[in-house]
Amino acid sequence: MTDYPGMKTVRIQHRAAQIYRGDVCVVGSGAGGLSAALEAARLGRQVVIVDAAPHIGGQAVGAALGTICGLFRNGPAPRRLTHGVMDNLFETVFAQGDAALRRVRGTFIIDYVPNAWMRWAERQIVETGIVPLPGAIVRRVEQRDGMIEALQLSTRFGDCRVEADRFIDASGDAVLPWLAGQSLRESEKQVLGTVMAILEDVDTGLCAEYPRSLYHDLIRKFGREFGLVRAEGPVFVVPGTRKLLLNLTHIETPMETAGLALAGIEGRRQVDALLTLFKRELPEAFRDAKVAVYGNAGIRQTRTIVGRSHVTVDDVATGRRPPDAIARTTWPIELHGDMAGAHWTIFDEDHIHYIPFGAMLPEGLHNVVVAGRCIDAEPAALASLRVMGPCFAMGRAAAAATHLNRSGSLHQIDIAALQDAVKDNLALETTDPWAGDIVSETGPEASGQGVSPA
Ligand SMILES: Cc1cc2nc3c(=O)[nH]c(=O)nc-3n(C[C@H](O)[C@H](O)[C@H](O)COP(=O)(O)OP(=O)(O)OC[C@H]3O[C@@H](n4cnc5c(N)ncnc54)[C@H](O)[C@@H]3O)c2cc1C
Repeated sequence: MTDYPGMKTVRIQHRAAQIYRGDVCVVGSGAGGLSAALEAARLGRQVVIVDAAPHIGGQAVGAALGTICGLFRNGPAPRRLTHGVMDNLFETVFAQGDAALRRVRGTFIIDYVPNAWMRWAERQIVETGIVPLPGAIVRRVEQRDGMIEALQLSTRFGDCRVEADRFIDASGDAVLPWLAGQSLRESEKQVLGTVMAILEDVDTGLCAEYPRSLYHDLIRKFGREFGLVRAEGPVFVVPGTRKLLLNLTHIETPMETAGLALAGIEGRRQVDALLTLFKRELPEAFRDAKVAVYGNAGIRQTRTIVGRSHVTVDDVATGRRPPDAIARTTWPIELHGDMAGAHWTIFDEDHIHYIPFGAMLPEGLHNVVVAGRCIDAEPAALASLRVMGPCFAMGRAAAAATHLNRSGSLHQIDIAALQDAVKDNLALETTDPWAGDIVSETGPEASGQGVSPA
């Protein structure tokens, strides 16, 4: 072999997997996982966070979701129900001008800029000394007697292994119980996903005057011509910009790589079709518009664990408080079961519903707790509990549980001590000085009355 100056010859080394070790390993860096990792680090634990995606932030960043739902009470002056390390995210993005409070469906949601979320998360990871492993796919678990001892990961640079005492599964797909061979639940009827999009160079002054029903009427009238499948959904002007956030596509989200890739491509085709339709029918507002961001294929619900307890629609609708409640929300049931739209059940001003810790504990595993959209719940109940506010709260509870109970079975946890550790999220209600101006919704959904599809 010829040697060239300034170059050396290399060859694959058959070396052992690289090993990372933490007290706690969190799988998934979305709303649930990021909250769990940062809470655990705040409690002094050494944390490793793993994500198959190349970035930190899960779908909140990669799928460009754009709004944080489920944090506030309902009513004329909604107060915030969920608190924890993520408070600093809100303070930061509001202070930077990268967020706005929006009045919608009888409550508040927070609009945020996905890049601002990602950069905040990255700074937090560095400051807290969390070991980040993005681009790492969990492919195998090593377990003994119901305890996971290590995860085997594939990365572009070869295999690695993460050892920890406690594991928090915020993968959305319950990947740890799945790989551990536990039974899981799947909805018989698929819950649809969405490719979100951010349009730029839109005349947002004009758009702010359009009721949302204008877009819906156009899609109903011309949608077939453009191959559109979803007739209704949110369209938000991003405050202070010439951008518009579109949540107007529906796709299937099969748990198979090529199928999900093709679904993402189909969702982006629907985005393009929407833009073409809006340019033709609303040229004053959309003449110069372009797609600034296509989200990844957004996955709402896939698999859930079989937990110690199971949240039903009745639990959500009645607001019955379980003895092991660790989080609460008022977010509507938002079930995306039909291509044409979603079913919404909106709750009244006094309503709150709860998440039991038992729904986060997978049967058959003793050192694993799940947080986020793979807790044990009926599909329609999960259609409320999976939004970011409750995901943050679940992450906090999961971290507190792994701190309180560092060996033995998490199923034996002292529930009163856990509830005390997250008591803010069961009792405290705040009005936030950082929230700033409130963006009002136009159109019939502004009041949040009744059941309306989106
Ligand atoms: C289109 C769409 C719009 C939505 N809009 C909103 C909204 O506006 N506001 C709101 O509050 N909620 C919204 N949601 C709800 C959303 O589901 C949750 O807010 C949030 O994404 C769930 O967070 P999570 O932490 O459970 O999971 P995710 O954010 O999905 O994160 C899970 C992470 O786990 C990783 N992972 C999975 N498997 C593996 C593996 N084997 N190895 C390593 N990593 C793995 C994934 O890469 C992913 O990053 C929306 C959902 C969708 C799909």
